[in-house]
Amino acid sequence: MQGEGPSTGRSCSFLRLGGCNLTCTWCDTPYTWDWTGSSESGVAHRPADELHPMTVEEVTERLTAFGTDLVVVSGGEPLSQQTRLLPVVEAMREAGVDVEIETNGTVVPAPELAAVGVRFNVSPKLAHSGVAESRRLVPGPLAAFNALSGTCFKFVCSGPDDLTEVEQLVRAYGLENIWIMPRGQSPEEIAEGLRALADPVGARRWNLTGRLHVTLWGNQRGV
Ligand code: SF4
Repeated sequence: MQGEGPSTGRSCSFLRLGGCNLTCTWCDTPYTWDWTGSSESGVAHRPADELHPMTVEEVTERLTAFGTDLVVVSGGEPLSQQTRLLPVVEAMREAGVDVEIETNGTVVPAPELAAVGVRFNVSPKLAHSGVAESRRLVPGPLAAFNALSGTCFKFVCSGPDDLTEVEQLVRAYGLENIWIMPRGQSPEEIAEGLRALADPVGARRWNLTGRLHVTLWGNQRGV
């Protein structure tokens, strides 16, 4: 199931790519990039265990075999590998499959990806990520995503106090289609976050999303 954002609840296949250009302290997928234990988890993951190089053909075949009408590409930061990702995305689109790419919004998307009708779910990071502003907020990519139809901007918030920071970014970059998602890796944290955020998000006429996969399966990794 896609667990977050506008397609929440849709059956999908996931393609998770390794490596990230940011180092968010609370990252929920540190196994894609944290080889030293610098994130909150404190675990130094082993690239040899986590990264599995595959050809474009292998990836395309495996995604096709799942038979879903939606593929979600996530990471890490998948656009760091967008040149190699493009033929996979093109093959899925040719087969009539919807494709969403989840990105931290710091890499300009290749025009070819937009041309085949990919939807970008962009998640710019707030100050509580622990990442320097100059790395997590890059005007060029944010403007490029904002200009693409269908893009949604999804902000991970610890609580209503974070909405002021989101408001500043929305104004500064002219962002549209705003989604707010509570930070949390347990069903209880997500439920509590949704309750705290619902009214102030609604008052701003933004959208609210939970994390359906966390509600259903907690912090368990998929296979
Ligand atoms: S951008 Fe995403 S994948 Fe990268 S460190 Fe931050 S939360 Fe993790």
